[in-house]
Amino acid sequence: MADTIKLHDLEFMPYLSETEIGKIVDEVSIKINEKYAGKSPLFVVILNGAFMFASDLIKKVNVECEISFLRVSSYRGTASTGEVKEMMPIGTNVSGRDIILLEDIVDTGNTMGEIKQQMKDAGANSVSICTLLFKPDAFKGNYLVDFIGVEIPDRFVVGYGLDYDGLGRNLPSIYQIRPNT
Ligand code: 5GP
Repeated sequence: MADTIKLHDLEFMPYLSETEIGKIVDEVSIKINEKYAGKSPLFVVILNGAFMFASDLIKKVNVECEISFLRVSSYRGTASTGEVKEMMPIGTNVSGRDIILLEDIVDTGNTMGEIKQQMKDAGANSVSICTLLFKPDAFKGNYLVDFIGVEIPDRFVVGYGLDYDGLGRNLPSIYQIRPNT
């Protein structure tokens, strides 16, 4: 893994390597395959950040499934705006379906809380949340996060689909903001 990197005005240090991420993704896929054996879930990939995680994870899912996409945005710079804007509707009927929301990171939990509620209101049979990264110290939701890849401290991260104002999504590993920046 490369050394410290700079994106815009901020510096980031290596945090999770490609190998570590691969192991985490494997573990999550095993749990999903167990829980959804015999079912036909609909994955809803939360764009933009979850595209890389979703691509790696879904290749390891061996149950019959469908995949759809939902584009939302609630971040500006390194802070959540707290308001969730739905930007691209999934265009798939969720009524009666077993939904698995695929997210890169759950921070305050506002985004997933809102989307979960929208899916329930639209008549989903069940709605699970699957996230690669979870910040327990920032989480304010009153719901369960069903599948968690790894818990991380409340510090801004980039890479593996996650960006800082548009940059860093292409990095194959995850970097954490450098202390005192
Ligand atoms: P929440 O609604 O849980 O506060 O925030 C969820 C969204 O905020 C994530 O989908 C992600 O886009 C963004 N986010 C939260 N924490 C981070 C972080 O540490 N780094 C990056 N790049 N985005 C984050």
